[in-house]
Amino acid sequence: MDFRLTEEQESLRDTARQFAAKELPDVAKHLEAADEPLPREWIKRYAEMGFLGVNVAEEYGGLGLGNLEALIVLEEFAKISPAVAFPIFESSVGPIRAVEHFAAAGLAKRVVPRVCAGEIVCAVAMSEPDAGTALTDLKTRAVDKGDHFLLNGQKRWCSGGGHADAYVVYAKMSDAPGAKGIGALYVEQDLAGVSFGEREQLMGFRGVPSADIFFDDVRVPKENLIVPADGGFRRLMEAFDLERCGNATMCLGIAQSALDQALSYTQERKAFGKQLVEFQAVQMKLAEMAMKVEASRLLIWRAAKNAEDGLPSVLDSSLAKCFANEMVRDVAGAGLQVMGAYGYAKEYGMERKLRDGWGWGIAGGAIDIQKTNIAAALVGRRFDQRR
Ligand SMILES: Cc1cc2nc3c(=O)[nH]c(=O)nc-3n(C[C@H](O)[C@H](O)[C@H](O)COP(=O)(O)OP(=O)(O)OC[C@H]3O[C@@H](n4cnc5c(N)ncnc54)[C@H](O)[C@@H]3O)c2cc1C
Repeated sequence: MDFRLTEEQESLRDTARQFAAKELPDVAKHLEAADEPLPREWIKRYAEMGFLGVNVAEEYGGLGLGNLEALIVLEEFAKISPAVAFPIFESSVGPIRAVEHFAAAGLAKRVVPRVCAGEIVCAVAMSEPDAGTALTDLKTRAVDKGDHFLLNGQKRWCSGGGHADAYVVYAKMSDAPGAKGIGALYVEQDLAGVSFGEREQLMGFRGVPSADIFFDDVRVPKENLIVPADGGFRRLMEAFDLERCGNATMCLGIAQSALDQALSYTQERKAFGKQLVEFQAVQMKLAEMAMKVEASRLLIWRAAKNAEDGLPSVLDSSLAKCFANEMVRDVAGAGLQVMGAYGYAKEYGMERKLRDGWGWGIAGGAIDIQKTNIAAALVGRRFDQRR
């Protein structure tokens, strides 16, 4: 077992780190203040630099590297902000990976290379007003009409909603109960009958627009099927195991940047004539922050490595996500506290890390249901939440 990165991985990380640290802090500040998504020219630039689809097969326009390499790059961008990191997340661990892995080659070839080239943005629309943790309660329905699917329903909390070019939409596709009846379609935003609600106002995630999506008799072409009912949902969840590692890496990047900022601040700021770092209580906080950040990184890397560049296991990815979700709340909270009022002030950026970090423990499955998944994997059985 070797916990060191290879020379190639280090060089990839350095390239991402230098690009993100040099080019993106001002962009991130603007996105946060204006609550605007990253402009498309930037996404194109990411593509030209090879940062999109790092772990996507070369035949689909990616770099053909592993999940670990993709997550290393994602962390460097997430250190600046989730808003600037979002296109990396979407192209390497997002819903497009379900298209690549499970859709017919025609759809995958049509769509995935365009995401990796920064030409289109694709988001995932699973949650609904009355279906979040209990996702199998979703009501959006896609009826097979022979030459197309007729899609009706409403989605909520979709990151990218109203802004993305296309959506991976989870829908009831048969009368089979629960998960068995659920499949997914690729739905372009300009299809007749697709419309969007008001922009959602969240605690964090500024620069990542989201909105309700309405499907009103939308005719979705047959070739846009990603997975059908009866087994499709299970495959979507397999792809989601990778998304969980991305979610965890967003937390890791935010937390690492909180630690970095706390380290430099506590060596500059003085109280009682001494640097803050000279107080033992502050030292304990910094050490605990570092312990949590390092442990989180190891869990994420293990999940990526164990998957051998396929899709990670539900146990590894849930352990990594849950730990990171709780870790970032603790670490960003501690970072804010050691900076006193400067931590609480918008100008210094620490409070944003707490707001952004918090959301990842709700997005992609709330912390407590992830813990149920972990316990289920540990004892090798499922716990039916309905009985
Ligand atoms: C920042 C952000 C980004 C998001 N992005 C997307 C996206 O891109 N696409 C998308 O489809 N959705 C997205 N979501 C929605 C997200 O997936 C849901 O919010 C999440 O699954 C929880 O559903 P809910 O909000 O309806 O909470 P509920 O299901 O109502 O649950 C509320 C709380 O109850 C508890 N709870 C519920 N059931 C159980 C249980 N069985 N066991 C233990 N505790 C339980 C949990 O603590 C949970 O937090 C996003 C959400 C956020 C906050």
